[in-house]
Amino acid sequence: MNIHEFQAKRLFAQFGIPVPRGKEIKSVRAAEKWVAALDTPVYVVKAQIHAGGRGKAGGVKLTKHREEVPKLAKELLGKTLVTHQTGPKGRKVRRLLIEEGADIAKELYLGLLVDRDSGRPTFVASTEGGMDIEEVAARTPEKVLKEAVDPAVGFQAHNGRNLAFGLGLPQIEPAVVSPFIAMLDNLYRLFLEKDASLVEINPLVITTEKTLLALDGKISLDDNGLFKHPDLQKLRDLHEEEPLEIEASQHNLNYVKLDGNIGCMVNGAGLAMATMDVIKLAGSEPANFLDVGGGATKETVAAGFRILLKDPHVKGIFINIFGGIVRCERIAHGVIEAAREVGITLPVVVRLQGTNAEEGRRLLLDSGLTVDVATDLWEAAQKIVQMTSAK
Ligand code: GDP
Ligand code: MN
Repeated sequence: MNIHEFQAKRLFAQFGIPVPRGKEIKSVRAAEKWVAALDTPVYVVKAQIHAGGRGKAGGVKLTKHREEVPKLAKELLGKTLVTHQTGPKGRKVRRLLIEEGADIAKELYLGLLVDRDSGRPTFVASTEGGMDIEEVAARTPEKVLKEAVDPAVGFQAHNGRNLAFGLGLPQIEPAVVSPFIAMLDNLYRLFLEKDASLVEINPLVITTEKTLLALDGKISLDDNGLFKHPDLQKLRDLHEEEPLEIEASQHNLNYVKLDGNIGCMVNGAGLAMATMDVIKLAGSEPANFLDVGGGATKETVAAGFRILLKDPHVKGIFINIFGGIVRCERIAHGVIEAAREVGITLPVVVRLQGTNAEEGRRLLLDSGLTVDVATDLWEAAQKIVQMTSAK
């Protein structure tokens, strides 16, 4: 789960990471009221959407004049912002963060994430922070530093020194070396205590007063750890999520919408990945990733069908089930009942393998539904691709 910048900054503040004074704003009225309480040379009005690249897309406005703030708020609220991370549809701006501007001497980049190669929480840092960090990583990877933390001992001062000296901070601004190392420590605590999978500060700025300030903030939380954090669950913003993915999560289905036209219903994440691969190999594109889980029932299958059919791009459905824990004849019953209930008119190919597969296939064939039944994965994939491309 991702959270907004203003929410991330609130967490930063709780963990002693310095952030500008600011507030979440949802109306021009509220903007007028809040800005009256601020006194600063520069005011910053920032669109709050779950996507980066706002600066370049016009979603971050700066002004020296207090009376311009409500006007800027009016401009941004309700606007659809298209950034390089939102896709062409963009995102509607429903909230703003209005804060005191900072006087920037230098923009750094700082991130913390789990590095899958080493299996360790790893800091990523660069002196070339700001809006083009992806560019920096692609063109001058030597300017991006990494420092892995051994989770068994936690963050150590030497991790901090490695990064601070590696970046050349003592030459850039000696006054921020100690605060920088303290900030890494705080960021690591936040990461661990809140079960984050990514924390990013870009830019982390050195101000002209020689202090550090987190000017932007992004936090991704590990969904599997969320049950421990009722306070963080409240930060979820459903406006920022794909409607079909929300519906799927209500049925405990793991669904990710994609761009192709073959809807997939599979049990097990690994098999779902393999199914997507084989569809591509057969010459088409999957419309989604959908893992109905090990204990698929008639209800989950029906919910899966409904979600697949709501995507107008879906031209056919491929059900690929391996009966390990779940028995195939049960799945077959589920598919038959759900297909009747939902009223499916699209071509459906079902591949069943494993426990009671034979019986499951027979049930499907005798059901009177126009479903194609297969045993072999490759054969099944070719079938559904053929049926959907002929349409
Ligand atoms: P992003 O483009 O979505 O990552 O949004 P950011 O929050 O990173 O803002 C983009 C850019 O706006 C930053 O890299 C800064 O250059 C600039 N910016 C943001 N806040 C301030 C501020 O308080 N003062 C100044 N001078 N620039 C700012
Ligand atoms: Mn940024």
